[in-house]
Amino acid sequence: MAGPRPLIQTPAARLDWSRPSAPVATDFNDIYFSADGGLEETRTVFLGGCGLPDKWAGRPVFTIAELGFGSGLNFLAAWKAWMQTAGPRQRLHYLSIEKFPFDKKQLTQALRAWPELDALSARLLENWPGRVKGIHRLNFGPVTLTLIHDDVSEALNQVDGLKADAWFLDGFNPSENTEMWSAEVMQGVADGCAPGARLATFSVAGAVRSALSGAGFTVRKMPGFGRKRHRLEADFPGEAKALTPPIDKALIVGAGIAGRSLARALSARHISFDMIDAGLHPAASGNPAALVKPRFDLQDRPESRFFLSAYLHALRAYPETAVISRGVRQIPKTKKEAERYKKLAAQAPLGDDQLRWENDSLWIDEALVIDPSKLFDAFEPRRETYETIRRHAEFSHVFIAAGYGIRALAPDLGFRFSRGQLSWAEPVWDRPTAYGGYAVNLDGAALVGATHDRLDDRDPFELRPEDDRKNLSALAEIVGRETSPVDRQSRASVRVTSRDTLPVICDLGQGHWTISGLGSRGFTFAPLLAEALVAKICNELGPLDKRLRLKFSDPNRLSL
Ligand code: SAM
Repeated sequence: MAGPRPLIQTPAARLDWSRPSAPVATDFNDIYFSADGGLEETRTVFLGGCGLPDKWAGRPVFTIAELGFGSGLNFLAAWKAWMQTAGPRQRLHYLSIEKFPFDKKQLTQALRAWPELDALSARLLENWPGRVKGIHRLNFGPVTLTLIHDDVSEALNQVDGLKADAWFLDGFNPSENTEMWSAEVMQGVADGCAPGARLATFSVAGAVRSALSGAGFTVRKMPGFGRKRHRLEADFPGEAKALTPPIDKALIVGAGIAGRSLARALSARHISFDMIDAGLHPAASGNPAALVKPRFDLQDRPESRFFLSAYLHALRAYPETAVISRGVRQIPKTKKEAERYKKLAAQAPLGDDQLRWENDSLWIDEALVIDPSKLFDAFEPRRETYETIRRHAEFSHVFIAAGYGIRALAPDLGFRFSRGQLSWAEPVWDRPTAYGGYAVNLDGAALVGATHDRLDDRDPFELRPEDDRKNLSALAEIVGRETSPVDRQSRASVRVTSRDTLPVICDLGQGHWTISGLGSRGFTFAPLLAEALVAKICNELGPLDKRLRLKFSDPNRLSL
């Protein structure tokens, strides 16, 4: 069996712009949309073909899935129709699979053709993940876009919890692109259907019709749009059912970044919740600054794709008001590490503009330094313990997002705990810098973190002068000179990790769930993990590769 491949971006879409406003895919000898009336065509073939917007009337959650995101015209047309017709509590999931995503420049150019969609196009462009491989979750208020940047067959294996009410098949012409219309792919489409789903496509090719019939659809030819004689509609058997969230009332235990991310995912679904935090111990979310930067892996594995997707999702999740600064420099500690960083920059899994090797360092240009207090100001949790609230309130779902608190609340799980102390020194660099530890300037001093020690029998939260010395000497080793301490209060908290260092989102039984094992990457992982956990409980389309979500959900992993 071949070993893992390097993680690179998806292949670029090769476009010919010589026709006015209609890009042509040179590899497929086909257009993305018709220059005369592409938007009308989308509305007739795909929206109209699937009976939209009528079919989503009154549905709390409606899911559209598409093969071939291309320029995003179908998505934008659906989004616009949704905003014009859906009620304020309804939500739309839109999944699209694309092997050759446009880069931002190509997308900008293509979308210029539709001034009517300008406002929505601008929001899509602002959030565009470029050609980064994997699954991307983009939230636009009531509309959630999930993009899978991969080949159709691979993508259909990864998709988690898809039960589409409508399918848009928009691969290029089947004669030029057979793999997008194979019987296996059509079976995958059928497997991703909700009962009573409706499918639409421009192609009436015999092979497409028979593959769809073979997968259980009832197919009919309809009058086509413009110069095309026909289009296709197909019905999946069964009766459409309204999907309502099964959570009556949720309790979130812990008001750190995991709890806040859960609150965001629940609020987006109009699910009410209480949040408690007894403030029993200092949590890492209470640090004066938090880094949002990716974990990198050279090889293409579901985990490494998740590290990038979670990072990109987190960048979009935090409001500008909480951002202290953008851009983090990563200094290698050894020659071997330098070689790895160089290789990484050359592989460019995040795009050339986001990772650079320069001045013997890796520069992660969009990585964030966040001020957690600015994020948390808006909502005060109740100062209560889980034990007391249980005595007077009932909840259908309890989310344990308690950091170190998991040790007491779920003592049987095999988590590992390590102490981390932060110290202060005189500033050494202008830019936030990571080197195993990290140094970030705040109000004229550098916050230097963090130690990493297994818990011993002393109080894990006591401040230890020897740990301040450890932090400063690790910094001195990188800078090449001693740095002076600054007289500000150090801080200690406890990281929770699993043996394989991957996070945990699991069912603890009896209506209890947890997000845990975030290690020192809480601010990077929590927004996407919360979205994954809440989507799973609500039987909605998830944002993770299914295989990985199953791994993250398996508590037995912890005791291996
Ligand atoms: N729906 C798009 C829009 O609104 O602009 C137009 C889609 S275009 C006609 C077909 C798309 O299918 C292209 O973007 C192409 O890159 C994609 N595609 C072709 N082969 C694919 C494959 N094997 N897996 C996934 N996507 C593929």
